[in-house]
Amino acid sequence: MGAPGCGKGSMADRIEKEYGYPKVSTGGLLRDAVRNGTPLGLEAASQLGKGKLVEDRIVLALLRERLEKEDCRAGYTLDGFPRNLSQAVSLKEMDGRRPEAVFDIAVDEETIVKRILSRLTCGRCDAIYNSVAKPPKNDMICDVCGGPVIRRKDDDPVVIKERMRTYHEQTEPLIAYYDKGGSLHRIDGNGTVDETYAPIRKVLDRMLGGERGRGAGR
Ligand code: ADP
Repeated sequence: MGAPGCGKGSMADRIEKEYGYPKVSTGGLLRDAVRNGTPLGLEAASQLGKGKLVEDRIVLALLRERLEKEDCRAGYTLDGFPRNLSQAVSLKEMDGRRPEAVFDIAVDEETIVKRILSRLTCGRCDAIYNSVAKPPKNDMICDVCGGPVIRRKDDDPVVIKERMRTYHEQTEPLIAYYDKGGSLHRIDGNGTVDETYAPIRKVLDRMLGGERGRGAGR
């Protein structure tokens, strides 16, 4: 959990790479559905890019379908879900468990705006770049899939304000919800990707049993 641009996606990528638990990003699922022109994608298209939440019904249908896939059976990392209380309740119903660890990544607002304005994203596979710190090796071509690297429509100064407002109003209250269950870990996300990831890795190693845990989800 954390505000837009706090690094959730990059952390979930690291966890997937090291522990094998697939990253399940609802933003990614929505963008995929729009790209593929599926019925849910067509509905979501008009709601995406404005900084507001997409209807729960659409997000939940996409998520349910994704979590049923074989690779999620041993565990998964959610990125960008839940984003409101009713989604948190639905997750519990869908999976039958509470999340084993919840990371709340805190970043100063000024840093967030700077990061988002320099963020670049692959328009095909959603890989994340940064025009200053981590540009694609070949000009605006994705290192991973060769797709076009673009600036996301919602990575724009006006939409960022709306995304932050949505986050504070609807998502932030969930921190108290998960804090009650004792599974919440507060992470300082102001540093580099490595610095932010280090304490997350420590928690996961403790939970999953160190070296044995790494690769367990594969
Ligand atoms: P960020 O976290 O940087 O805002 P995401 O890729 O997670 O980026 O989300 C992009 C957009 O997709 C959100 O602004 C919202 O409109 C929509 N979205 C993603 N996840 C959800 C969700 N769980 N519920 C509703 N809308 C969502």
